[in-house]
Amino acid sequence: MTEHYTEAFVLDKSDFREHDGMVRLYTEELGKISARARGLKKILSKSSAHLEPFNFVRVRLMHMKSGYFQIIDVLPHHEISVRDKKKSTRHCGVLLAMAEFIDRMTRELHPDQYLWHIIKRLAEVEVDEATMYRFLLKAFGFDPQYATCNACACASVAHFLHDDHGFYCAECASKTGANAVSLV
Ligand SMILES: [Zn+2]
Repeated sequence: MTEHYTEAFVLDKSDFREHDGMVRLYTEELGKISARARGLKKILSKSSAHLEPFNFVRVRLMHMKSGYFQIIDVLPHHEISVRDKKKSTRHCGVLLAMAEFIDRMTRELHPDQYLWHIIKRLAEVEVDEATMYRFLLKAFGFDPQYATCNACACASVAHFLHDDHGFYCAECASKTGANAVSLV
């Protein structure tokens, strides 16, 4: 068993068995991981409040021999406290979309310091949703700045499609259907 202590951005939380929770985190040290949190569903669980999507936390993890991670301890990240009153509803909406997008676009156990830096910046500085996607896509290696439409090859890309990791102009995106994020 190995212990890790790392900063993390909470991507998703779900129920696991009767009292436990399964949390997906983007951590500074390990990249994306899924971790089991014991007793998370108990009413007085302090961890539960911290482990909400788009929160920043400091977390102590145990990497069990069987391969899974278990959360030993979790503390709020005081330098980046997202869930305070200073954050606007709009910024919270952007951060929630960011959590979903990162979850969709990353593989587990692929830490990326540049991505981690961008995640922290986007929590501190309020930008609109399209700008957030552009920053993240650049971190993922898909820079929209020089992209062309996957279908018609024009340069006015307006959407990024999850399914094929391609950029599309507004007109072509309307024909490809769902799972696209808007970049304008
Ligand atoms: Zn097009």
